[in-house]
Amino acid sequence: MPLITLEHIGFKYEEKWVLRNISFEVNKGEFIGIIGPNGSGKTTLLKVIDGVLIPQEGDVQINGISCNKLKREHLAKMIAVVPQESMMIFPFTVQEIVLMGRAPHLGKWRFEGETDFRIACQAMEMTDTLSLRNRSMNALSGGERQRVLIARALAQQPQIMLLDEPTAFLDIKHEIDFFDMIQLLNKNQDLTVMAVTHDINLASLYCDRIILLREGNIHCMGSPDEVINESHIKEVYETNVAVDKNPATGKPRVTPLSSHPSEGGSRLKSGAAPQL
Ligand code: ADP
Repeated sequence: MPLITLEHIGFKYEEKWVLRNISFEVNKGEFIGIIGPNGSGKTTLLKVIDGVLIPQEGDVQINGISCNKLKREHLAKMIAVVPQESMMIFPFTVQEIVLMGRAPHLGKWRFEGETDFRIACQAMEMTDTLSLRNRSMNALSGGERQRVLIARALAQQPQIMLLDEPTAFLDIKHEIDFFDMIQLLNKNQDLTVMAVTHDINLASLYCDRIILLREGNIHCMGSPDEVINESHIKEVYETNVAVDKNPATGKPRVTPLSSHPSEGGSRLKSGAAPQL
């Protein structure tokens, strides 16, 4: 049985449908990428899977059980969300933040016990944040902070991890470190991962399957080889690209092309530069 099933999902915030007729299945242990232009519904789709947004049409099932029959606490134990790295102020230590991941598991007195501390420590070890445990979250770099947010998600001991552009503000090293770590958890712990990313090449590198969204519809879904080709990317992003095989990885690789290559990429005619 698939771990996640979406059947004919339709969602609108107000009048306009933001997701239309979305159906797919995700098996336990898969690493799924969600790509598509800005505003195509990627974040909304994650929120529908997380149960934060209730679709007006269709059904989301986890392990074959409709989400609207599952208690919120049950979903919180199963699904962890790692949001975009934000500039939010966190007036907490790293350990306090990671322990927050235990919240769905706490008994009625809401106090953390020995087991919760042990699990939080393991999560910090796995994400290489244990040495930061007593530091204030505010005093960390973007990359460190993002690792702490993953540690919090891991402390939740979820079956499913939903990532919303988790590396949007990270440099290339931290971006790769982050995806390597998620891949390790995916392979070693059988964690099911669904990640929204604006970076098609990263999705190509790490994901088993990719969902390409266009205006709230699934344009196509499949392996990186099936989804990432010039016609799909041009149709959906309405821009000129070349797609070849990355010689180092064998995965499809997208190179954006300027529409005015002979002019060094500038959209301005030579000599027509604006006077500043
Ligand atoms: P993406 O993640 O692909 O950029 P989103 O899921 O954030 O897309 O947004 C899809 C569409 O829904 C956009 O047109 C966006 O303006 C709209 N939208 C997102 N959040 C809200 C909201 N809270 N209220 C109304 N419209 C929203």
